[in-house]
Amino acid sequence: MIRTRFAPSPTGYLHIGGVRTALYSWLYAKRFGGEFTLRIEDTDLERSTEESVNAILEGMSWLGLDYDQGPIYQTHRFERYKEVIDQLFEKGLAYYCYATPEELDIMREEQKARGDKPRYDGRYRDFDGIPPEGVKPVIRFKNPIDGDVEIDDLVKGKVVINNKELDDLIIARSDGTPTYNLTVVVDDWDMGMTHIIRGDDHLNNTPRQINLYKALGATVPKFAHIPMVLGEDGARLSKRHGAVSVLQYKEQGFLPEALLNYLVRLGWSHGDQEVFSIDEMIAYFDLDNVNGSPSSFDTAKLLWINEQHIKNAEAEHLARHLSPFMTDLGCDLAQGPALTDVADLLRDRANTLVQMAQGATYFYNDFAEFEAGAAKKHLRGVASEPLAKLAEKFAALENWQAADIHAAINATAEELEVGMGKVGMPLRVAITGGGQSPAIDATAELIGKERCLARIQMAQA
Ligand code: GLU
Repeated sequence: MIRTRFAPSPTGYLHIGGVRTALYSWLYAKRFGGEFTLRIEDTDLERSTEESVNAILEGMSWLGLDYDQGPIYQTHRFERYKEVIDQLFEKGLAYYCYATPEELDIMREEQKARGDKPRYDGRYRDFDGIPPEGVKPVIRFKNPIDGDVEIDDLVKGKVVINNKELDDLIIARSDGTPTYNLTVVVDDWDMGMTHIIRGDDHLNNTPRQINLYKALGATVPKFAHIPMVLGEDGARLSKRHGAVSVLQYKEQGFLPEALLNYLVRLGWSHGDQEVFSIDEMIAYFDLDNVNGSPSSFDTAKLLWINEQHIKNAEAEHLARHLSPFMTDLGCDLAQGPALTDVADLLRDRANTLVQMAQGATYFYNDFAEFEAGAAKKHLRGVASEPLAKLAEKFAALENWQAADIHAAINATAEELEVGMGKVGMPLRVAITGGGQSPAIDATAELIGKERCLARIQMAQA
């Protein structure tokens, strides 16, 4: 069975590039009926925070990236890592290194002065003397000295590295905690991972990890290293480009499936299709069509994708995601039309949920004044007659429905011998407070008869 995982380190927010890695791993498992695991790589005790763990869990949950296993915390598995380190010691493949940081600095300076690439020179690899006093040793893995390591990367193709280029990896820090390169191998092995899909910033680690798998007698999984996400200026995407945390996108009013759609296309293609439902992503995703070179984040395109998903979403789904934004704007959703109807009416006019919510407050909240420009143009001095006639007709309507409302507007315009706009616009400003809204008859229907009549009265005052 295919098994994939997302293995973030909880040392900051959940980065949008990380989400794409998570998504590709999730899709790959879903596509092939496999299992997806969330593993929190929190062994760096100094940098890991609970806040960051929560941001990861919240982000995954908002995006709907569910997992079959997890969250698994590496800090709960220290015993197991110790056991594996002991195995490596038994096989003669691990050793204590007593070199001090100062000593290693000097070593690197000398290497640089000779024009060599700085790397640990194995000075404690075969040490059997008396350890220096007062130095807490790290534990290193005895990397093979000869031969090549080959990676048949599913995205990058074949990568070959000579073992001479790899030095002896630290597998436990001087405080005894195991390092990333060890824990990731132990976990991926224990958890039966078949495909490691991750950012290509880890490509350098992969040959060392492959040597560890082999040393442990474990099956080496397949690797797919996906290129970084860049900002519009070609630099690695970071905070200075704007929002990079997934939860910021939530706050800015993106639908989770729109963000996923945008991210799946950032480095993967399926013909020239741009808009994908989650089911389509699962049906079509494969690593074959993942691009080997980096992609740049394009906010305008993300907004366009969001707009498409807002147009296509089920009304209940849209309303569920819109609801917190309405509440933030002080709307009491119990005092007005069903939010599903409002969302349906407004879905063609917004590219974010924030924008949609801002355009929907008048369905729930009364306003104290009219937008100045719109009032000047459509109310002051020109609207009293049409509004008075309309109010009369509205009051008499038995069915408060768009078609009947429309007929009343029409009849008023005919009686006054003016165009529909001369009636419709004053009505729009009167009942919505401004000059922009969806079709005025449908809008009036949702606002409700009583509210409309009260607002018309206010506009006439
Ligand atoms: N914990 C690593 C990171 O956040 C990921 C390791 C991996 O996917 O192998 O960069």
